[in-house]
Formats: sequence, C-alpha cells, structure tokens
Amino acid sequence: MMRSHRCGDLRGDHAGETVELCGWVNSRRDHGGVTFIDLRDRAGLVQVVFSPGVAAEAHDVAQTLRAEFCIRVTGVVQTRREGTVNPRISTGEIEVAAEAVEVFSEAETPPFPIDGHQDTEESLRLRYRYLDLRRNHMQDNLDLRHGIVGAIRRFYDAHGFVEIETPMMTRSTPEGARDYLVPSRVHPGKFFALPQSPQLFKQLFMVAGLDRYYQIVKCFRDEDLRADRQPEFTQLDVEMSFVGVEDVLDLTEEMFKSVWAEVLDVSLPDFMRLTYDESMRRFGVDKPDVRFGMELADLGTVFAATEARVFRSALDSGGAVNSIAVPGGGRLTRKELDGLVEEAKQLGAGGLVWAAVTPDGLKSPMDKFLSDEERTGLVGASSAREGDLILIVADGRVGVVHKVLGALRNRMGERFGLIPELERSDPGAWKFVWITDFPWFEYNEEEARWDPIHHPFTGVVEETLQYLESDPARVVSKAYDITLNGWELASGSIRIHDRVMQERVFSALGITPEEAEERFGFLLRAFRYGPPPHGGIAPGIDRIVALAAGESNIREVIAFPKTQSVFDPLTGAPAAVDEAQLELLHLKSTAPPEK
Ligand code: ASP
Repeated sequence: MMRSHRCGDLRGDHAGETVELCGWVNSRRDHGGVTFIDLRDRAGLVQVVFSPGVAAEAHDVAQTLRAEFCIRVTGVVQTRREGTVNPRISTGEIEVAAEAVEVFSEAETPPFPIDGHQDTEESLRLRYRYLDLRRNHMQDNLDLRHGIVGAIRRFYDAHGFVEIETPMMTRSTPEGARDYLVPSRVHPGKFFALPQSPQLFKQLFMVAGLDRYYQIVKCFRDEDLRADRQPEFTQLDVEMSFVGVEDVLDLTEEMFKSVWAEVLDVSLPDFMRLTYDESMRRFGVDKPDVRFGMELADLGTVFAATEARVFRSALDSGGAVNSIAVPGGGRLTRKELDGLVEEAKQLGAGGLVWAAVTPDGLKSPMDKFLSDEERTGLVGASSAREGDLILIVADGRVGVVHKVLGALRNRMGERFGLIPELERSDPGAWKFVWITDFPWFEYNEEEARWDPIHHPFTGVVEETLQYLESDPARVVSKAYDITLNGWELASGSIRIHDRVMQERVFSALGITPEEAEERFGFLLRAFRYGPPPHGGIAPGIDRIVALAAGESNIREVIAFPKTQSVFDPLTGAPAAVDEAQLELLHLKSTAPPEK
C-alpha cells in the first residue's frame, strides 16, 4: 500500500506516529511562512502543515499545490495547539506535520468547488460526475446505499432465499410502461426488450421449485421521468412459494425493520395498514403521507339537501363533495386563493370552493348559497378551527375529488410547514404504510378499456371473482404496496397460479387467446406443470436509499443517473450511431438529421 492510514481516520491517539497519507488537496492556506493543506480522502479531511523549518523541500512543493491535486504526504501526527482545535471535523484534534510530499497528478481548476454545497447546476454535476462523487456528501450516500443493499442481502440469505440472475435481453413484461428495445442482428426485424421487471422469470423459478428467490436487479421503463423515477432503476425483487398475503407482508416488514436497525440504528414500530379504499377516502391518494393530518372529509351528509348548484349536481350524479381544512390557511390573500383555484383546475377539478373560518364566521364566495346549518356542518365535518381555510372539491366523479384534494393536501402540507424535518434517528420519522386490497382494474378513458392497476399476473380475491366479466370495477386484487412518507416504495401481490384463471384474466383485459399465446405462452405452458401458489414483492432500492439518506431526489443516490430529460451528460448517451451499424441491425432511422 502507498498509505498507512486514511486521512479521515486519524485521531488524537495517533499523535507521535509517522503516517503516509494519499488524497486530494481540498484547500491550501499560507500563513506566516507556513502552508496548510486540508487533505481529503474517502474517510474525510485532515490538516497537513508544511513548515520551512521542518522540511524545506516539502514546503516548496506545498506552495505549488492547488485544489484537487492528487498527492501523497509523509509526516508526523501531532496534537493541535490549544485554540486551533477544529470540532467540526472528525480529525480536528490533530494535524500532520509534513516531512515529504509527492505529487501524483495535477488538476485543472474544477468546474465547481468540490468543497462547496450541492448548489451547482445538475447537468454540470452529472457531466463531471466523478468530481461530484468526490464530495463527502455523495460518498456518504453511496456508502449508505452499499450498507442498505448489504443488509438486505444478509436478511434474505438468513431466511433461505437464493439470489439468481434473470435475463436482461428478453420479451416484454407488462408493468404498464413502454419497453426499451434491443434490435437483433441475427434475427432481422426482431427485438429483445429490456425487462421492466423480472416478474415472469421469478414466477418460473417458483414453478421450478426454487421456493424463495430474491435479486437486486436493474429494471428498465421508458416513461416520463420525475424526481423518483429513472429509465433504469434498481429493485429488490422477491418471490416465495406456498405463501398468502400475510406471509409476504410479515416477512417484508421484518426485512425493512432489520435494515433500519442495522443501517440507521432505528427500531421501527409496526407498519400502519390501510386498505386502498380507506387510503383514498382519508388521504385522496394510494401513497399517503401520514406525517400530518389534514384528512379529507366527506361532506355528503352536510350537503344532502343543499340548494347550492355545484354540490347538488355532484351528489346527484353519484359523485362526492369532500374538503380539507388547512391549518392557518385563513391568512392567504385573495390572490393566493385565486392561485389555488387555478391549481385545482389544472389538477382536473371543475373548480375549487374555499371558505375561511374567521372570528366573524365563514368567508367564502359560496357563502350566500349556504344555510346556517350547512355552514356549521361544513366547519364541523371538516374539523376546521378559527384561522383555518377549508378547501372543497365537488365532482360527479369521486376519483377526481380524491385526486385533486389528495394533491392539494400534499402541497398544503409542504407549504404550511406541516411536514417535520427528517430526524433520521427518530423511529417516528419513518411512516411506513401498507396499502392492501387494491382494485384489480382501472378504467383507461383514453383507450376505453380496463387495465390492470398492478400487472396481469396479480391474484384475484376469490369473493370478487364473480365480477371479473360483469363489473370489473368491483374486482379486488391480492396486491399490496408499501409507502413511506408519501413515496411508493414497493409493489407486490399473490399471483395467479392457475392456467385457466390466468387465461380468464387475459380475456377480461381484452387479450385474445392468440395474443396471450404469442406473448405469454411460455408462462401458460409452465402452468401446465404443477405451479405452486406463490407471491412476492419488489421494493425500489433507489427510493429506499434516497429516503434513508433524506434526499428528495433519487439521482442523489445513483452513481451515474440520467437527467430529467433522459440524457447522460457524462457520456453523451443516447447518441447517434453510424449508418453501417444501423444496417447491420436491419434498421433505418426516420429521425430528422441532427443540426
Ligand atoms: N413486478 C412488480 C413490479 O415491478 C413487483 C411484484 O409484483 O413483485 O412492480
């Protein structure tokens, strides 16, 4: 080894030792003829002192050092003089008196200070990701990621699971996104799909009798990116045989508890459980942030006999009138309220009714249409207090009411500071929620058909099987999600393991037997050979790590992510390829030539 210690590991009890350190120059200061360097490596910073009286040659070299030069220093650890101790760094009690220095390589001025905070523009950070990753903050995130993945592996290993790889070049597995395709050179006109998930392979493992499988695996989905989405992402894929919903929930919850205990030293309480219906009713969304209240209130009873037209027509057409009470929202200005109405419209509402609870009663544009009883009922049902703002959405479609108020609730929670700052060591900071009993289908208005909410291999709750063809909206699935602080962390289900049943579900989805045979024939064939009852789950690793790190964007915990516009500024991918390569792949581009 070229070094005896890591910079950040030196402590007071190393005083007197001669050490060899390797790292990068974080900063240089010249003071009264003496040169100070903060030397950085993965473990942290240490101060190195170059005095002409101790080592003249090293001191000369030190004066030529600039930020990010990569160097090696030999010197003696000494305790710092009183008054110069730096409690802000772990090595702050000591410094290293340099005797010799060797410059491995010089550095140009970096495009952004490594020392600084993350306020550099993201595409610049990504273009120079290797410099961005020199930052301790980013290294901590990647360390945390490593720690979490290791703890997950240890958990499943200890519970008799095997990690097995599944193909990256395969057929489309429907998870509701577009596929990334890989053209085949040897099979003209044919394509592999990159997996949206290993779903069908893990089910085949169960048919094979492998019993308990997991994999930390890359998956690919071509969808619009957001803070919690990347085109390639990592998931913890799990499948087990001879289990029901409760078994998967129990084991997965135990896994999260063991990871949090091992990595964050936090002992998590039992996860909250909500059915999908309850979550929608109370929070308007299926990934509720339960760190704050502001739950939706159903005003159906309050306005049962109302004359107010918007409420009347929503209720008469089988819809709903719901509200939330924003604590302290009464202080919003007229302009801000108009802004909220606009937001609600953008979210799909016909409009938004607001009502401020003031000392002189309700203030609302709707006021003149309400009876005294309705006014009192509205405030009571919404659990609003003086100073609060009640936001009401009425629509003929309950789904629209939930969607709009669910989104507004999250935004108001943030704007009114109801979401506490993450205190990582506080078990109460981690609001894990199981969402169960999802509907099996959702209606796709655009395509005028019923789509699966999860994927087509999700089991059906037996009592609701009778509605499969007649009333798909009433079919309940054996699917479950885990959400944490408002993020969806995992999805899973008990699967269909009966061929006839799987064919029936395909047919309910409008997939013809020929199409089913063409796309999933291999699964249906496997189901002819004694498939066991099975189920599983797939938590997203990037999201788990981001939340555990207190980051609001998964790109902060991925070494080389793509930008929001699906581009890699580091390598310049995706990039054009030459004609010859396209020809080999039997492809011709119809894209307009690049400018
Ligand atoms: N394949 C599912 C997904 O990727 C997870 C599962 O059902 O196990 O969301």
